[in-house]
Amino acid sequence: MDFRPDPGLDAFREEVRQFLKHSLPADLRVTPTFSRSKPQAVARWQKVLHARGWGAPYWPKEHGGTGWTMQQILVFDEECVAAGAPTLDGMVHKLLGPVLNNFATPEQKAAHLPAFFNGERLWCQGFSEPGSGSDLASLRTRAELKHDDNGDHYIVNGQKIWTSHGHESDWIFLLVRTDASAKKQAGITFLLADMKTPGITVRPIRSIDDAHHLNETFFDNVRVPVANRIGEEGAGWAITKFLLNNEHATTADLPMLKHYLRQFDVLADTPLMGGGRLRDRPEFALKLARLQAEVTAVGMFVQRVAALEMAHHPMAQPMGSMLKVRATELQQRITEAHVEALGDHGAVAYPNPAEEGEANNESLPMHGLARGLANEMFFRRASTIYGGTSEVQRGIVARLLFGL
Ligand SMILES: Cc1cc2nc3c(=O)[nH]c(=O)nc-3n(C[C@H](O)[C@H](O)[C@H](O)COP(=O)(O)OP(=O)(O)OC[C@H]3O[C@@H](n4cnc5c(N)ncnc54)[C@H](O)[C@@H]3O)c2cc1C
Repeated sequence: MDFRPDPGLDAFREEVRQFLKHSLPADLRVTPTFSRSKPQAVARWQKVLHARGWGAPYWPKEHGGTGWTMQQILVFDEECVAAGAPTLDGMVHKLLGPVLNNFATPEQKAAHLPAFFNGERLWCQGFSEPGSGSDLASLRTRAELKHDDNGDHYIVNGQKIWTSHGHESDWIFLLVRTDASAKKQAGITFLLADMKTPGITVRPIRSIDDAHHLNETFFDNVRVPVANRIGEEGAGWAITKFLLNNEHATTADLPMLKHYLRQFDVLADTPLMGGGRLRDRPEFALKLARLQAEVTAVGMFVQRVAALEMAHHPMAQPMGSMLKVRATELQQRITEAHVEALGDHGAVAYPNPAEEGEANNESLPMHGLARGLANEMFFRRASTIYGGTSEVQRGIVARLLFGL
């Protein structure tokens, strides 16, 4: 594999930088986090991108995307994070969008894509259920087909859990069981539902970083038109496998890994009370150098997996699983190292920037870095769980590579 940058990548980086400098409104700039930004910020930023023709930076041209190469996408994401641009709705950009592009009818695309490009409809993912996470195909939320004067529709009953951003999303894409007698994978159907539909209730789950990202979502006789079904009834599992493959690749989050390294650099240069800087201490310098090398290696790994995926190579899946494990464990180690480097400041529970806005960062210790790093470290505990746990990924590698 050739890891040399595309010719012209520097010019592209400069084009993105200039665009961000002139088009990213100052009041939208945030301290980058793993999490989707607040709905208003996402909507405003999505509109700006769309007006520039970059509304779907990850999609091929034939679906209204930019048609960028993987290296261009990585540069775009890296520059957006470095500039503090709002974090877009990954649910639709990276998960649902490719599903709609590949499996939806022209009517369904017309119903949903314009609102996506304008940032007017945010989405959440209703897959996991209590008892059905890793073993997703065991899900029990039922959907029964009904015909009446108001048209064909499903009546959905059941519960989803860990619905990220469910409380601030307009629509949900969900998996339901339409045939309890079939083999478990065969009885699953993929639906889209408006979160305002009567019978949908969202209850918050506060996570270890003391913020509200997660929810339980309950469906009580919820009426979903058949027109909102993606693919045939019972064909949901094939669509889900397509979507989950994209999810594994996106959880590597290389731009955030690079951002964490930059934050580590700032910490390394902060004057210490007793004199000197952390960077001058050999054990710290060694840790920093190791993390830098590992982020570079993950960067190459991301490109390798992307190339395998584009070639539909059979190694794409096990390598994608390896990448997910490697990158998410690195996310955890860097954010732990941040908190260690903060010393006493790392032990203070500053307000969570995801909830409290960006005010007064500079008046806080360590250039405001103390605020947010501990929250990020706590939430990254989850990165080896969501998108398929590390144990499950290792199982995939063992099965596909070693036939175990
Ligand atoms: C922060 C966060 C955000 C999330 N967001 C969403 C969302 O938006 N929408 C959504 O639908 N879901 C979401 N999830 C759910 C996520 O996909 C599941 O948590 C994940 O798939 C694991 O399922 P589980 O929690 O039921 O754990 P379980 O599957 O019950 O696993 C429990 C333990 O058993 C291990 N285990 C299970 N099966 C195997 C196996 N075959 N081999 C070896 N070990 C195994 C696991 O590794 C784990 O350690 C989110 C989760 C988190 C933590």
